[in-house]
Amino acid sequence: MHKLDKKNVEPSLSIVIPAYNEEAVIKKTLEKVAEYLEGRYLSYEIIVVCDGCKDNTARLAEEAAKANHKIQVLDRKTNMGKGFSVRQGCLEAKGNYVIFTDADLSTPIDEIEKLLKWLEEGYDIAIGSRALKESDIQVRQAWYRQTMGKIFNLLVQTLAIKGIKDTQCGFKGFKKEVARKIFQRQAINGFGFDVEVLYIARMLGYSIKEVPVRWLNRAASKVNPLTHPLQMLTDLIRIRLRGWKGAYER
Ligand code: UDP
Ligand code: MG
Repeated sequence: MHKLDKKNVEPSLSIVIPAYNEEAVIKKTLEKVAEYLEGRYLSYEIIVVCDGCKDNTARLAEEAAKANHKIQVLDRKTNMGKGFSVRQGCLEAKGNYVIFTDADLSTPIDEIEKLLKWLEEGYDIAIGSRALKESDIQVRQAWYRQTMGKIFNLLVQTLAIKGIKDTQCGFKGFKKEVARKIFQRQAINGFGFDVEVLYIARMLGYSIKEVPVRWLNRAASKVNPLTHPLQMLTDLIRIRLRGWKGAYER
């Protein structure tokens, strides 16, 4: 058993999985994650947040939850966005460490060890990164997504937070209290929420470790390359305005 489980009062680890129309992968993903954690972590929970799915995701997740009581499902009626879903899941999480990951497991689940290592060493937040020298990108995103990512990161560095090469990797870990403090203040519901999370973290003085991870991109995506870039630029501006108004300090 992992040394995180010494006390074993609350689940040591919470894995939050936002899911929007993920019926093609959710069953396999939950099996993989549970199988990985079982035997390694005495106490864990997996929280699936079904984000107003129009397919069978919720039913499949409920079935998995029936078979394994460490899986729980938060089922939302309307689609609110990844940021909203991750926030709901992270605020619900009871583990000492809270990690969120994409439903398609583009970052394989065993990579949590790399985040946990830094959290155990004392960092408040450890975030997966696809943009460091040591990042192991085995399957790349489509060229236009890579370009979008690079341009977005330039905008992030100019408008919001400096020094983080990949704010958008869907694989991030927090100490429980840190997750709570950040997500209580976090308001962006769409894909721009990662930047807001890190912006708030900086404001509150939390330490952030950017960690190179393995990435095997799954092509199926909810990101619309025409509408989402504009949405995310608007999000950046919202973050700056909210920051200036002191909204994150309360
Ligand atoms: N997601 C969500 N709500 C949405 C859109 C996406 O919860 O409205 C989830 C999705 O199910 C996945 C994660 O956010 O778990 C990342 O989405 P996706 O894989 O489509 O993004 P990409 O890998 O293309 O960046
Ligand atoms: Mg994906």
